[in-house]
Amino acid sequence: MDQNDIASNPTIFGKILRGEIPADIVHEDIHCLAFRDINPQAPQHILVIPKRLIPKLSDASEEQRTLLGHLLYVASEIARKEGFAEEGFRVVINNGENAGQEVPHLHLHVLAGRAFSWPPG
Ligand code: AMP
Repeated sequence: MDQNDIASNPTIFGKILRGEIPADIVHEDIHCLAFRDINPQAPQHILVIPKRLIPKLSDASEEQRTLLGHLLYVASEIARKEGFAEEGFRVVINNGENAGQEVPHLHLHVLAGRAFSWPPG
């Protein structure tokens, strides 16, 4: 599924999905891919992305509600498998310019291994 989407994805994450550039992959299924962030902001920093191109969270359609839930579930599954579910972790989605989104392909940041302040910067 989603092969046409993957083929035409112009973002850096499209290159990762096509295997054109390397990534340290921690999870893959038919709907999503998770890999370690190249510029980690915490001892553990993993990105979870849908294989289907959704530029940002607010672009997701109603029919993609299940996919959005799946991405969150995978984030929690990774937290358990990587061993930081109990100590705590943060999931962040930057949506658009004011949030500092740089890559226009929806991604969940899963951050762990240190304490995080609130409110975020
Ligand atoms: P955002 O600012 O929310 O769009 O986050 C984009 C994230 O993608 C940043 O944390 C980058 O460090 C990360 N990133 C960019 N290029 C790569 C790459 N080739 N492999 C892994 N992570 C990347």
